[in-house]
Amino acid sequence: MAAFTYINTWPNPKRQLGAVSAVTFDPNGNVVVFHRGDRIWNAQSFALNNTFAQRDKGPITDNTVVAFNKQTGDVVYEWGSNLFYMPHGLTIDAEFNVWITDVALHQVMKFQSKNNIIENEALIVLGSAFIPGNSRNKFCKPTSVAVLPNGDFFVADGYCNARIVKFSKTGDQILSWGENSFQGKSIPIAPKNYFAIPHGLTLALDKGLICVADRENGRVQCFQTSDGKFHSQYHYPVVGDRLFSVSYAPINGGQLYVVNGPVINTFHQVFGFVIDMTKDAVVAKFGPNNMIFSNPHDIVVSSDGKEVN
Ligand code: ZN
Repeated sequence: MAAFTYINTWPNPKRQLGAVSAVTFDPNGNVVVFHRGDRIWNAQSFALNNTFAQRDKGPITDNTVVAFNKQTGDVVYEWGSNLFYMPHGLTIDAEFNVWITDVALHQVMKFQSKNNIIENEALIVLGSAFIPGNSRNKFCKPTSVAVLPNGDFFVADGYCNARIVKFSKTGDQILSWGENSFQGKSIPIAPKNYFAIPHGLTLALDKGLICVADRENGRVQCFQTSDGKFHSQYHYPVVGDRLFSVSYAPINGGQLYVVNGPVINTFHQVFGFVIDMTKDAVVAKFGPNNMIFSNPHDIVVSSDGKEVN
């Protein structure tokens, strides 16, 4: 098994953060996190019909997007105050557009940025603010975004829906697929195309694939970016029944980096794992200083596979 060196700049003492829901790289190689400031997602946050129950608290006043220099840990830029209610997904595309999902707003937003300055007015807003649903203009707690080089993008929707939606770069829906297999407990393996919380997305561009962290099914499912057709899935006992996020590196024939999660009432080691897509096998595992994680929520790997956050 390969070994990773854990660079102990994280969590960063130079900037107080709330619960971090997402981590990514920007095109300049900064490590960028999306965090919830003083907001906490708990049993009171949502009503049973999935509407956000704490609108009266207003948006989070802290800057929710913070970029760190990965060598020094210094804050490079920060942004995103008074905009978001319950941060979840953060994606920064090659053109430095910042894509956000907010599970309280049930919305997906695209913000433009120039020279580390992100505009406060979203260029694209999809979904109806605070109104959950399952239709062309409504999401239910959307989790994640992935952006193709031509600007078309995918949304994982989400906690209460179970679909992947592909949009044109202007925000018109092109494809939608996925069925809900959530049963409140894990089953040995759900049929393909079924999701139990599609929770994270990554693109394997050299293979023409979009891969989905199918969280409560403990697996990654990959689909063709062109037509959404099922391609392959990756599910291993060592990872267990909960798989929170996935990131891809086009090395050694294609590797998926995943993080799993704690399983209630069962001891299960929480680690990052490296999956070799060609061998269909777990080839490495990693954790901070080779210790287990507590409850990791997101993962990103550099394209050369050398850096993982
Ligand atoms: Zn989540």
